[in-house]
Amino acid sequence: VAEQYNTLRGQGSEFIQNTAYKLEPIKTRLCNALEREEFQVYYQPQVNVQTGKIISAEALVRWLHPEKGLISPAEFIPAAEETGFIVPLGEWVLQTACRQMQVWQNAGFPLRIAVNLSARQFRQPELSSRVAQILAETGLEANSLELELTESLMVEDAESAIATLQHLKNLGVCISLDDFGTGYSSLSYLTQYPFDTLKIDRCFISKITDGCTNAAIVKAIIEMAHSLCLEVIAEGVETEAEKDFLWRYKCDMMQGYLFSPPLTAADFEQLLLEGK
Ligand code: C2E
Ligand code: CA
Ligand code: CA
Ligand code: CA
Repeated sequence: VAEQYNTLRGQGSEFIQNTAYKLEPIKTRLCNALEREEFQVYYQPQVNVQTGKIISAEALVRWLHPEKGLISPAEFIPAAEETGFIVPLGEWVLQTACRQMQVWQNAGFPLRIAVNLSARQFRQPELSSRVAQILAETGLEANSLELELTESLMVEDAESAIATLQHLKNLGVCISLDDFGTGYSSLSYLTQYPFDTLKIDRCFISKITDGCTNAAIVKAIIEMAHSLCLEVIAEGVETEAEKDFLWRYKCDMMQGYLFSPPLTAADFEQLLLEGK
């Protein structure tokens, strides 16, 4: 990873339009931030809809900037993706999250960890061997790791995408299809690719209870996913009414502000200790 930073350093072009840092290319700033340990992993609970118990956590990266404070991934992931910095950053997130989950498992919490994988990472030829290496280093069981991928990764080169997924599956990790229903959606992906979990995008969950078509869509997605033996997670659950709907239609898991926003490791641990 250290080698990668050095080759990345200074190659980026400037495209974040912000003030005092204009002279420094974004990639250099991101590399420096990683070296200075300014990135943090937050954890958002994924909860069993029927029991209300936490069964998993999604790792979500933040940049704790010394002057600007907490910067959301929406502000730097696109630049990280474009410059290639996402590869070392994504590895760092994966490593940090796996190590943290191993600690929580050792403390008696048998949870899974879900980590987002970007398009660039997904196309790295050495991806599955890096994942295997990180699992070996952290001691986390492969089946405790779920990698979240978006549909956009599947459209470019279906054959090599399936091969990559198969390599990851062979390690024993679970694969989750993130943001389902947005963008490139094709139902054929669900049968062609070896997914374990389907995450229904937030945009379908909001307004689910307004008596509009979203309710019908979510019901249909849950039924279809179950008939394909996929687990279903609903994202962005914010109200009791949304939760009740998901409970009634047997959605497996949910994630959203209703239960908890993404938390620091310390706050997440507090939630676990409170018996949630
Ligand atoms: P995502 O993977 O779809 O993650 C879910 C996003 O929804 C998170 O935003 C989370 O904070 C937010 N969220 C959770 N519950 C609710 C809710 O009830 N209501 C609303 N309105 N939002 C909710 P966040 O953390 O800002 O991350 C944004 C995106 O950045 C993620 O979307 C993901 O695509 C990307 N991202 C974050 N961390 C990583 C990472 O480590 N690697 C990669 N490649 N991408 C990441
Ligand atoms: Ca995700
Ligand atoms: Ca998502
Ligand atoms: Ca998203």
